[in-house]
Amino acid sequence: MKGICKLCGKSEELLNESHIIPDFIYRDLGIFNENHTLNRLTVKKEKEPIVHSRSIPSSEYEAGILCSKCDNEIIGGYENYAKKAMFGGALPSDESPIVTDYVTPQNIKYSQAVGISYPKFKLFLLSILWRMAISSRPIFYQVELSDEIKEKLRLMILNDDPGDLNEFPIYGMTYLNDPSMPRDIIGQPFRAEVDGNTIIRILLGGIFILYHISIGFHDENRIENLVLNKKNEWKLFHIEVGKGWEFFFKHASW
Ligand SMILES: [Zn+2]
Repeated sequence: MKGICKLCGKSEELLNESHIIPDFIYRDLGIFNENHTLNRLTVKKEKEPIVHSRSIPSSEYEAGILCSKCDNEIIGGYENYAKKAMFGGALPSDESPIVTDYVTPQNIKYSQAVGISYPKFKLFLLSILWRMAISSRPIFYQVELSDEIKEKLRLMILNDDPGDLNEFPIYGMTYLNDPSMPRDIIGQPFRAEVDGNTIIRILLGGIFILYHISIGFHDENRIENLVLNKKNEWKLFHIEVGKGWEFFFKHASW
């Protein structure tokens, strides 16, 4: 099908299948169940939390949004890095993350990845945000961003530009320290308005990715230690053991 590619804006032959959440995340996190369909959560507001596993097609993809070059080379390049960084694979030593667990004197626990490429990993995560925002798939309905924000993201991804620290800073939280919590879940993305700022949150296999939808709002010094930063560090803050579901549902109903 010929059409306008949403990333490069050119008239091209468009792919029939562009993944919104990268395929490797489903495969490598064991998120497929034995029927090769995805386990996911559906959350209903203002009711007792109902968690059920529901089979949906093996991954969320969409036709007619991207040309082959944009999907396979540009986005594929970011995914290739992220896959190796997250699940192992040959990488140059300065781009190969090493993760260490810490506890602060205030008893805040976190895992810190050092040596994770700020440009590549941030653009990988932003490419998921952008794809969710342009997707018409129902599961992503809360990821509605303004045209201005979508255009800014599009140009960053297209031009290999991860932006400054305070442009779409990305926080990470995890419950993977709690063995009772499931790893094989992709949570429906949620939108929250906090102090006049929009946060989009998605759960990918036990890691909550929190995108702060802002450009230049934050003081860079204040957030450097909290977000994926230019020193190639990213902290994943641990959710207290036993509080994983509470965190999931509390913030799901923001
Ligand atoms: Zn394109």
